[in-house]
Amino acid sequence: MIAIDAISKWYGDFQVLTNCTTKVSKGEVVVVCGPSGSGKSTLIKCVNALEPFQKGQITVADTKVMDKATNLPKLRSRVGMVFQHFELFPHLSITENLTIAQRKVLGRPKEDAQKRGLDLLARVGLSAHANKYPGQLSGGQQQRVAIARALAMNPIVMLFDEPTSALDPEMVGEVLDVMVELARDGMTMMVVTHEMGFARKVADRVIFMDRGEIVEDAKKEDFFGQPRSERAQQFLSKIL
Ligand code: ATP
Ligand code: MG
Repeated sequence: MIAIDAISKWYGDFQVLTNCTTKVSKGEVVVVCGPSGSGKSTLIKCVNALEPFQKGQITVADTKVMDKATNLPKLRSRVGMVFQHFELFPHLSITENLTIAQRKVLGRPKEDAQKRGLDLLARVGLSAHANKYPGQLSGGQQQRVAIARALAMNPIVMLFDEPTSALDPEMVGEVLDVMVELARDGMTMMVVTHEMGFARKVADRVIFMDRGEIVEDAKKEDFFGQPRSERAQQFLSKIL
């Protein structure tokens, strides 16, 4: 589903990614972890072309993301992304947040978009909040709406960048629960997180990055059993 093939990226003179290669198959859940500044956010932003890269290639389904001919709005509509800071539109109601891209990008009729939006709102347990504005919801609730909004576009892949790290601790669980359910439903997911409980529960593989390199790319059992690299071992011993 996602093939990341030998990509390297520089910000000016600074090399942020070095020869990163990995794959995410259909239905697979891959957790990406590693120290701050190791390039995790940059790597997943490259997947939906939010960041350009200078070497290598990424394909999503059969679309080459850096190809000039690629229709980026279409690609991004198929690759759902949820960030650390829930970026809902503050001046739009929850229902409008859930429907605007369906209508503007996919051209869905209003009724269809609303039905899909409200179904997804129910799925994340927030039906009662359809007419509220983002500022009236808790951080955890907003993040669940952000997930529902991404799902409303019928993505073939979901990317998450530390979706729970800006939340108060009591709200982390409700967001992870939605993500666990999504994973169990078979969604293809690439998730930057340090929530190793989530990784243990639903990840198929764990990627460990350090200084712009994929240092470890292992089956969950192998990663938690005994990471091969010392850097990953040190990292794990700090966060577990
Ligand atoms: P964190 O865990 O703190 O989110 P990360 O692993 O997601 O870190 P990135 O945000 O991908 O790391 O950043 C990787 C490196 O690239 C860091 O050294 C960062 O300072 C640098 N970097 C990120 N964005 C830019 C930018 N726009 N211009 C220059 N350097 C950048
Ligand atoms: Mg980051």
